Amino acid sequence: MLKLRNVHKYYNRKRQNEIHVLNDITLSLPSSGLVVLLGPSGSGKTTLLNVIGGLDKIHHGSILFDGHELSKYRSNIWDQIRNRDVGYVFQNYNLLPHLTVYENISFTLNMIGIYDQDEIDRRIDYILERIGMIHYRKRRASQLSGGQQQRVAIARALAKNPKIIIADEPTGNLDSKNTQEIMEIIKAISKFKLVVLVTHEEKLAKY
Ligand code: ADP
Ligand code: MG
Repeated sequence: MLKLRNVHKYYNRKRQNEIHVLNDITLSLPSSGLVVLLGPSGSGKTTLLNVIGGLDKIHHGSILFDGHELSKYRSNIWDQIRNRDVGYVFQNYNLLPHLTVYENISFTLNMIGIYDQDEIDRRIDYILERIGMIHYRKRRASQLSGGQQQRVAIARALAKNPKIIIADEPTGNLDSKNTQEIMEIIKAISKFKLVVLVTHEEKLAKY
């Protein structure tokens, strides 16, 4: 599903403060399952995830995503692939606060070209039902707790039915009860999709 071969990335390349942040990374990830990348703060987890998710560029090496070699594509083509096939979940949820739960998800569906109202409603209701948030459909994102916001962020990522979900410290701002619940949801998703999760918390890798 996803292969990284001898990937190198630098920040501040060829300057005095150069950081060789990804140093010869080779890995091969399956098409489903939960992969947890564990490392201390500053070790390059976010950088690696952004590279995997196509949000950031590399200097050397190759990335093969579902049979596509990323460097071979012009960035607009890769943007299309990424929009359709990669779902993102962040530590700080990244919802649009003034929009409702429903609007946050429909906005993402519009971005991948889904405008059919029945199709949008069907997807949103299905996913909110599964994630236990159907009763919050009309609530503004800013009026939800952290755990609820992260559920919506996961619903938003899932609604477009991507091939892979990348999650950067998704429970980093949550208490232990919500952490457990979000990890249960992530584990359930990983039965049929690839979920790549990065964290600095060792206990998450043991869920
Ligand atoms: P992690 O997510 O594991 O905490 P990051 O990938 O965010 O690690 O950062 C890895 C290293 O790269 C850190 O030393 C960080 O300071 C540095 N870094 C991250 N982003 C940038 C950037 N845009 N410019 C320069 N240095 C960066
Ligand atoms: Mg990080």
